[in-house]
Amino acid sequence: MMKLPPLVEASNPLTTEEAARYLRQTVIPEIGALGQARIRNAKVLSIGAGGLGSPVLLYLAAAGVGTLGIIDFDRVDLSNLQRQIIHGEGDVGRLKTESARDAIAAINSSVHVIEHNVAITRENAMEIIAGYDIVIDATDNFATRYLINDACVLLSKPCIWGSIFRFDGQASVFWSEHGPCYRCLHPQPPAKELAPNCTVGGVFGVLCATIGSLQVTEAIKLITGVGQPMIGAITVYDALSSTFDRVPLNKDPQCPICSSNPSQRELLDDYEAFCSVSLFDVGSDDMVNEITVDDLRALQNSGTAIDLIDVREENEWAEGFIPGARLIPQGEFFSGAALSEVSKDSDIVLYCRSGRRSMDVAKVLVSAGYPKVVNVIGGILAWNESGI
Ligand SMILES: [Zn+2]
Repeated sequence: MMKLPPLVEASNPLTTEEAARYLRQTVIPEIGALGQARIRNAKVLSIGAGGLGSPVLLYLAAAGVGTLGIIDFDRVDLSNLQRQIIHGEGDVGRLKTESARDAIAAINSSVHVIEHNVAITRENAMEIIAGYDIVIDATDNFATRYLINDACVLLSKPCIWGSIFRFDGQASVFWSEHGPCYRCLHPQPPAKELAPNCTVGGVFGVLCATIGSLQVTEAIKLITGVGQPMIGAITVYDALSSTFDRVPLNKDPQCPICSSNPSQRELLDDYEAFCSVSLFDVGSDDMVNEITVDDLRALQNSGTAIDLIDVREENEWAEGFIPGARLIPQGEFFSGAALSEVSKDSDIVLYCRSGRRSMDVAKVLVSAGYPKVVNVIGGILAWNESGI
């Protein structure tokens, strides 16, 4: 278990009013008046004032964090209110930074709020983050998440990460000085077709409070030096089974950015491009990507329009096939007859019995100039074994 000294100094003692206000917190011996003075001196940046940012900002303000930065360029939408509890009905249409600022002022007028009404970009990330002690990643997209991680590693700042999707939540503290970073966990982003997306997939509103409060807890622990920070572990919460799991995470000695000899020493040029790699892109060396049957199921559930082609023979097809597929036996590809039936614009997914014949067909398509082709590992055998 790791123990770290307090991240923030306690300069001036508490005023009488502060002592009264935070009494329930300062009577906890581990925090005390000294810990509360550290909390008051802390500068915490929430990147996002949405689902996670709402409980994060409200609880940080209530706890007495002296300076809160908010990065968000979005406006409050009616569909946000189901989970973004820092905003109310009267805020619909307002900038989220302004709405959040007012909510914070209503709870604790002594908090100094800094509104960054911008999108975080490679141009402004380093400068903004440098002004804070702790960064809370309360974003909902991969490009921003990788940008925040890389900037925090380069600036040696702790990044308290949270992530939610439907009934699942995760949180961790990434601090490359003391443990792993986000890219030790995921060196590469998921293919864009398989990236979980709360807009499409949905999110169980109250999950934001569960994960956001874990993030605030870790922020206050870091500020005051109380307890063991969630460094080198991920907390995984499953709301449906009511379970919290602690999954250990080690620093990756090959991590592109936080290892001792990193391949990347500054921010990437384009995080959007980094995170928009398609599963279907054929590599420059004509390598065909392979996907698992679970990936195929996720693709079908995501609503991505794919052309799923079974390349077995008719008698095999008659015994069963993967729903959504059409049959074009492999011979028709080898003779060239099938090419007029398959569009080069489509995202093509091929399968056969075990994955071998369909790989041969994939290679035929790639050499015929089809740019977007993937093969299903293990074919229909794997699909049937995976049991649906
Ligand atoms: Zn790393």
